[in-house]
Amino acid sequence: MADQQHYDAIVIGAGISGLYQLHRLRQLGMTVRVLEAGTGVGGTWYWNRYPGARFDSESYSYSYSFSEELLQEWDWSEHFAAQPETLRYLNYVADKFDLRRDIQFRSRVSAAHFQDTTNTWDVTLEDGSRFSSRFLITAIGPLSAPTLPTIPGVDSFLGASFHTARWPHEPVSFEGKRVAVIGTGATGVQTIQEVAKTAGTLTVFQRTPNWCAPLMNAKIDAAEMAKIRAGYPELFKRCQETFACFIHTVDPRGTFEVSDEEREATYERLYASPGFGIWQGNFRDMLTDRKANALISDFVARKIRQRVKNQAVAEKLIPKNHGFGTRRVPMETKYYEVYNQDNITLVDILETPIERITPTGIKTSKTEYEFDIIIFATGFDAITGSFDRIDIRGTGGQRLKDRWKSGPETYLGVLVEGFPNMMMLMGPHTALGNIPRSIEYNVDWVTGLVGYAKDHGLTRLEATEAGVASWTDHVKSLGVGLLSNEVNSWMTGINSNVEGKQTRIIARYSGSAPAYRARCDDVAANGYQEMALS
Ligand code: NAP
Repeated sequence: MADQQHYDAIVIGAGISGLYQLHRLRQLGMTVRVLEAGTGVGGTWYWNRYPGARFDSESYSYSYSFSEELLQEWDWSEHFAAQPETLRYLNYVADKFDLRRDIQFRSRVSAAHFQDTTNTWDVTLEDGSRFSSRFLITAIGPLSAPTLPTIPGVDSFLGASFHTARWPHEPVSFEGKRVAVIGTGATGVQTIQEVAKTAGTLTVFQRTPNWCAPLMNAKIDAAEMAKIRAGYPELFKRCQETFACFIHTVDPRGTFEVSDEEREATYERLYASPGFGIWQGNFRDMLTDRKANALISDFVARKIRQRVKNQAVAEKLIPKNHGFGTRRVPMETKYYEVYNQDNITLVDILETPIERITPTGIKTSKTEYEFDIIIFATGFDAITGSFDRIDIRGTGGQRLKDRWKSGPETYLGVLVEGFPNMMMLMGPHTALGNIPRSIEYNVDWVTGLVGYAKDHGLTRLEATEAGVASWTDHVKSLGVGLLSNEVNSWMTGINSNVEGKQTRIIARYSGSAPAYRARCDDVAANGYQEMALS
């Protein structure tokens, strides 16, 4: 088509994966267009500008590792950097590698249709402009399709209201304001503890409490940064060896292999240590053995009771329907102490459900509240949601959304049979964990595959039905026995606000990252023989 620009590859999204994928494909000498909905780079860190947004994993473990020069140039100011710093970092990367000239902003992809006759993808933007490419690489993120609650009247509020993942670029002042927050996941917790510092009043609407743990953030001075920099090779090596690419190594001991005193001392040490140690570095059976899980849950419950003065409020903040670590653990800085402030109210909406959002506030079954600002920290249509929002069609016009109706089916989490030349970065069934570490591997593997096609004059790369069936079965079998798969959360594909997402599915790869990489390396080393290449 004359009005269609053609590229070797189209990458959807200019977040951490899209940026690196562009850099790598350029090294193959390919023409690439990155289509990005936002006005700038950064993906997650571009969109999630809500107050208090910051890393939950160590800043330096979150850096790209592919460029020694970049590692040497960049200083992190805190062990867990705040969102503005991360966004600055990703902008710095985009400038350093001159990435912007191949990125088109304000370009939300609405459709991508495979063309069987030419083995190419037709890609359409919301504004109607069209592109075509040999390869289509989705870098659209597992947590990028925000969802508002399906509460009656949600659009009727006349004050200011924001979803955390669509936060305005201008500062929002809470000074003296009556603020409501709905949602107490990792985002809600970060938001609440920040807004509580200045709001006139803050009312938190909590449906399910989560098990939170102290972040223990601290500044990094020049001397410490120099030390961190010198330790990068060792740090990235460690991240390659751990289960989920975090710097924390799981404790090889079982919960009941140590004395009561030793166990308690271990929990205390982990609770007082920075970052995900208490989640990722705990006893090896914490997430598989119910009794082991009950002990750590009891430990954290005691901490909550100690930190929250009003014991009725403390009880509401202690999860009762899932154990510690079976959902993503929100990391906090004085979160529980917020509830000791006089101007903060916790509303348990299981006890007094929200009936509707009104022009002036929120009405529960018991009380009508008035607010100036409502913040929706209500999460995402995770993992498959960002795919569902694009009309992706493979061979014979089949829709990916229909194909995945009962849960995703993939080959290595990267390809889907019937959708040739489409590769997913951080798609369903890949190892997520410490995201940039997983992304770098994912991107390198996809680059290897695309490079192989280029070198061998291949125009069509496709997963086989058998390959998809076997990987999907494998991923499902890895999930057996994990307590987290018995719990409703975005990780099990649940979103109460999205039709059809009320049944738990296995959406994530839950094996170890080293095992994932070994399997993918093997496929590449064998010349992708398991795939259909032509
Ligand atoms: P989330 O964990 O899915 O939490 C959404 C919250 O909104 C939950 O408390 C949920 O309650 C509540 N909610 C949803 N719909 C509701 C409704 N209709 N009525 C009342 N409450 C409702 O989402 P998130 O907090 O945005 O976090 C998602 C993920 O993003 C995290 O798990 C994490 O992986 C990532 N994240 C990372 C960072 C970081 O690295 N620094 C920070 C923030 C988030 P229920 O639990 O009852 O459904």
